[in-house]
Amino acid sequence: MIKILRFLKPYRLPLLVIIVLAFGQSMANLYLPNLMANIVDVGIVNKDTPYIWRTGGLMVLVTLGGVLAAIIGVYFASRTATLFGKDIRAALFKHVQKFSLHEFDTVSASSLITRTTNDTTQVQQVMVIILNIMITAPFTLVAGIILAVNQDAALSWILVVMIPVVVGAILLLMTRAIPLFMSMQKKLDRLNLVVDEGLTGVRVVRAFDRQKSEEQRFDGGNSELTDIAIRVNQLMASMMPVMMFSLNITSIAILWFGGQRINNGQMQVGALIAFLQYAMQILFSLLMVSMMFIMIPRAAASADRINQALAITPEIADPAQPEALSDSAGYVEFKDVSFSYPGAEENAISNISFKAAPGEMTAIIGGTGSGKSTLINLIPRFYDVGGGNVLVDGVDVRNMRQEDLRQKIGYVPQKAVLFSGTIAENIRYGNQNATDDEMRRAADIAQATEFISTMEDTFDSYISQGGTNVSGGQKQRLSIARALVKKPEIYIFDESFSALDFKTDAKLRAALRTEIKNSTVFIVSQRVSTVMSADRIIVLDEGRIAGMGDHKTLMANCDVYREIVATQLTPEEIA
Ligand code: ADP
Ligand code: MG
Repeated sequence: MIKILRFLKPYRLPLLVIIVLAFGQSMANLYLPNLMANIVDVGIVNKDTPYIWRTGGLMVLVTLGGVLAAIIGVYFASRTATLFGKDIRAALFKHVQKFSLHEFDTVSASSLITRTTNDTTQVQQVMVIILNIMITAPFTLVAGIILAVNQDAALSWILVVMIPVVVGAILLLMTRAIPLFMSMQKKLDRLNLVVDEGLTGVRVVRAFDRQKSEEQRFDGGNSELTDIAIRVNQLMASMMPVMMFSLNITSIAILWFGGQRINNGQMQVGALIAFLQYAMQILFSLLMVSMMFIMIPRAAASADRINQALAITPEIADPAQPEALSDSAGYVEFKDVSFSYPGAEENAISNISFKAAPGEMTAIIGGTGSGKSTLINLIPRFYDVGGGNVLVDGVDVRNMRQEDLRQKIGYVPQKAVLFSGTIAENIRYGNQNATDDEMRRAADIAQATEFISTMEDTFDSYISQGGTNVSGGQKQRLSIARALVKKPEIYIFDESFSALDFKTDAKLRAALRTEIKNSTVFIVSQRVSTVMSADRIIVLDEGRIAGMGDHKTLMANCDVYREIVATQLTPEEIA
């Protein structure tokens, strides 16, 4: 909890104002009973009307001052707490953006969403309450006791009895409520996960007719959360009657014993009224202090979760002294590269060495799980190598800024991802400054123009979240166009043609060949027809290079390649 307070740093001045105003308000409240006692004991007893008017007027002024302080204080407090929440959310989002794929493998997206939204809101709400009403509670408590004793020391034994009773009751409730609050947040995480999976996988859920079991899974999480929330609320609700009972018993005791003291001439009526009011203020601020003890652990649980996410240091970071990159463009070299996924026993790829230069097309072919995606993901440094070096333009990718590296790369992922927005916006994602002509040209080369022109608003047609309103092949073509407008030095196509029919695939590659003939191109594919014309074909088998060379060479001396070819091409095509 303490750590999260660093986000309050920019708000030192408003915080000072809030604290000053809160103390002002609290002092006004503490002063009023005293004035009231004076009106009764001095003004009314002595029938001194001007004194009553004077003191009454002062009371009005003090009250107005208190109200004014309260209004301004609440304004600043709410504003500060809300900005505090905003800053935390921004910091989280910014930090998470820096995560490497490995961190996303370890902290689930749904948990990160809960942390950015619900946990932050939790902390923010508690901050509102602390700033609005709780800052001065300890002060009011202590000052109230002193002032009450000052009014009548003999009656203060009532406070000595009641305060421990109230504190005890609060402690009892607290020790039960806090663990419940903690587990509530975890249940919420779980529920978010179920919702997330159920919604993103809705097609699969339908296809396998698993709505019922998804509902059950959701119901399970939902009722667990509800049960805990009900128990917490029951506890909190039982606090109210306990507190009201204590307050009323205290009032009765004060009136009873105070009445006797008045009868005996040991106390004045005004002093009794003031004492009663101080007692109420004391018990009320006690309640506030204890609420603070309940709310702070609750917010602390959320604050911890936020801090945890913020404390994760992204595995892949820019070097302290990045090497400047030459303008020479797009040389890629793998030097004896090996890599294994964290936690995996075996290397996903081993001892990979090759060189690729601008103007060359390197194709990578191999069975599913042979390490093709892993290999090309090392070029944009999505992961760091386990052994060896990946060099781009002669510099190890670990020694350059990620931004500089990725500036050079146009990446078309295996699973095409589009963002909600128009088609034009999605293509321009590759290059904000692309002109309309450049964008249309990219769509042309990617063979996307045809289907775009049949859409109602052509380039301004809307792509829904996750690109669910276009087909897989259309998505692939749009993500190819997105890479093309970037005009990068290195192109990476990870099975980017897999959802295209053979004819479109061929047309697209023909168009690409002329368009990007000066770039370094990597094409991952399972189709022999796609890779056949490449300058260099790397045949991967269980993460190792089984053969490398052009189609002819491999046909002559690579068994794995020949096997793949034999399953896909007719003898005439091979010849
Ligand atoms: P390909 O693209 O050739 O189908 P991949 O490069 O995706 O193969 O995968 C190679 C191997 O690495 C597979 O055995 C796969 O199970 C494993 N793998 C892929 N991605 C991950 C990951 N994020 N975490 C752990 N293992 C992975
Ligand atoms: Mg793959």
